[in-house]
Amino acid sequence: EPVQAAEKTYTVGTDVTFAPFEFTDKNNRQVGIDIDILKAIAKVEGFKLNIKATSFNGAVQELQAGQIDGVMAGMSITKERKEMFNFSDPYFKSGVVMAVAKNSKIKGFADLRGKRVAIKTGTAAGAYANSIKKKYGFTTVTFDDSNNVYQDVIAGNSAACFEDKPVIQYAIATGLDLRITKMKLADPNNYGIAVQKSDPEFLATLNRGLKKLRQTGEYDRIITRYLGNGS
Ligand code: GLN
Repeated sequence: EPVQAAEKTYTVGTDVTFAPFEFTDKNNRQVGIDIDILKAIAKVEGFKLNIKATSFNGAVQELQAGQIDGVMAGMSITKERKEMFNFSDPYFKSGVVMAVAKNSKIKGFADLRGKRVAIKTGTAAGAYANSIKKKYGFTTVTFDDSNNVYQDVIAGNSAACFEDKPVIQYAIATGLDLRITKMKLADPNNYGIAVQKSDPEFLATLNRGLKKLRQTGEYDRIITRYLGNGS
């Protein structure tokens, strides 16, 4: 009798808290759009999944070092990253906005002169802030997770933060005491799953799985689960 090939196990790194994409629910379970999509792909494609939550930057560094097989963490597909990794087909539209304290008078970048802006290590929003800070005369401070970024603004240490719109919007809708200054996206981008360049097989598996989830309606069900029907 032929021996059945063992199911492959893929280890995918993710962020600790980047709701609604990955977060821990009240029962201490790891949930979110990324987690559910990844699990659904593993199911339809028949592989075992090991999801490893570190931090966004930590996960990207582990992928770079070849310690994990992929990163799914609301990760923006950027030109620079495409030189290092392969990305799956895009699965979510995003982009950067600025958020400030509810009672802040800041309306736009021009009001940031001499002030401090909180950003998250290794992120597209952080890179965007750094790319305009000289022009607008502000400084930046970095944190490894989104929550510390927001708290620095709430505490009044930073005048603003730069973050992905769907994430800060979700945080505000669930009680975070900040407001977005302008809804128009700076640096519009798409999220994709990053994999090693040397692993075309995993890339093909992910894209095939994503396609199946879109065809069966599972993708839409997952989005609705976290964002409701209005998304
Ligand atoms: N989308 C942003 C990026 O790719 C942020 C990701 C994150 O913080 N998890 O840089």
